[in-house]
Amino acid sequence: MILAIGANAKLAETIGLKTKDGQERYVKTIIDTDSAGHTSVEGIWAAGVAAGVSVHTIVTSGDGAKAAINLLSELKGERYTDHEAVPSAKH
Ligand SMILES: Cc1cc2nc3c(=O)[nH]c(=O)nc-3n(C[C@H](O)[C@H](O)[C@H](O)COP(=O)(O)OP(=O)(O)OC[C@H]3O[C@@H](n4cnc5c(N)ncnc54)[C@H](O)[C@@H]3O)c2cc1C
Repeated sequence: MILAIGANAKLAETIGLKTKDGQERYVKTIIDTDSAGHTSVEGIWAAGVAAGVSVHTIVTSGDGAKAAINLLSELKGERYTDHEAVPSAKH
């Protein structure tokens, strides 16, 4: 599960995830994650504003994609990428 709950960390706190102070303006509390997006609870990932990245759409959406790729890779037991949907990547 990936939590992308924005600037309100209440849900994360309620379910017992480790949180910490946010650095971005208006974001008081963020979910504590490692660079892959893991939270303090196995199986729960976090991304976007909730994980403390810069509050810009392109950054937060990319962070969600990063966490999703890392989660899929862990589930599959190997690095997961699928570029088959990109026509120019087909040979
Ligand atoms: C006023 C404003 C203007 C902005 N302008 C720009 C701009 O011009 N350019 C730019 O790049 N970025 C802008 N941003 C920033 C951009 O909106 C964010 O970076 C981006 O939306 C963050 O995405 P996110 O998915 O991390 O969080 P969010 O978009 O905040 O999504 C979090 C979602 O989780 C939901 N949620 C929270 N708690 C729960 C819960 N307990 N249960 C169920 N759902 C829950 C929320 O309702 C929300 O839908 C702006 C932000 C604001 C507030």
